[in-house]
Amino acid sequence: MTVGIIGHYRCGEHDMGEHHPENGKRLTAISDQLIRSGLDYVVRQFDANPIDKSLISLAHTQEYINFVFNNAPTEDDKNFCVGEDSLMNSKTLTAILLSAGAAIDGVDLVMDNTLSSAFCATRPPGHHAEHKKGMGFCFFNNVAIAAAYARGKYQLKRVAIVDFDVHHGNGTEDIIKNHFPRVDNTSNGAYLFCSSYQYPFYPFNIEESNTPPIINTPLAATTKSEDFRKAITEYWLPALHKFKPEMIFISAGFDAHIEDDMSQVSLTEADYRWVTDELKAIAQEHAQGRIVSVLEGGYNLGALGRSVVAHINGLIGN
Ligand SMILES: [Zn+2]
Repeated sequence: MTVGIIGHYRCGEHDMGEHHPENGKRLTAISDQLIRSGLDYVVRQFDANPIDKSLISLAHTQEYINFVFNNAPTEDDKNFCVGEDSLMNSKTLTAILLSAGAAIDGVDLVMDNTLSSAFCATRPPGHHAEHKKGMGFCFFNNVAIAAAYARGKYQLKRVAIVDFDVHHGNGTEDIIKNHFPRVDNTSNGAYLFCSSYQYPFYPFNIEESNTPPIINTPLAATTKSEDFRKAITEYWLPALHKFKPEMIFISAGFDAHIEDDMSQVSLTEADYRWVTDELKAIAQEHAQGRIVSVLEGGYNLGALGRSVVAHINGLIGN
């Protein structure tokens, strides 16, 4: 199994201010832990290519895309606030295009069999970005763009997006419900989105759903390993088996870790390994093993590095 990691040093340069938890040290923590674990010798590493601007409209309105491009600061001391807690500096647009481009590269590398699966170690994250607006540290929805790209370019009939970040993937849900039907007339039954999240919690505006295409799985703040695994086993796995995805995308956020102050949920690296193993088994049964995983949250640097290593070991099957 050849697993690839796609990233770019310029994704580390996007900066939302001193002490902001979504910062470039996250990517350094991941690469340091990959080296410490010896995995850097096992995986193939790729530099991300920036996304072609025209592909962003697979998931976002042209008006919002123009708003981001036209307001991107060009001077080092300037900032622009795209939405609630999504701030651009002069390096942000480059990072945004590389972050979304990595997910596209992941699709191409998996579809041409260069890789069995790919992990995009990039930022900014994307799953809070809705079709008309950015929010929650996110600008463009990397995973939704890549899922639509995989459907269009490779004629995949069914793609699943699963999101185990501790925050609900409101952006991905919004795009699937409101944008994909308009741009893709054959999308009925084309997407399945499974999201687990602490609730009540940011972004708050969530409707519980166990009906495809949306499987929303709320987790109590007291959730530990056993409750998490039970919820995934009860709600996600049967829905995924029934759906039979031809490719699985993962919004891989690691902020439900017990050491991560961003939430109260108490997962460990072992849980990220477990859920990766379960998703990999489904990908092998239905999707020729194809998985493209994209980094979302995860703010405790030590826990993030160890959790990503556990996730990649799961993708490899070590
Ligand atoms: Zn999160």
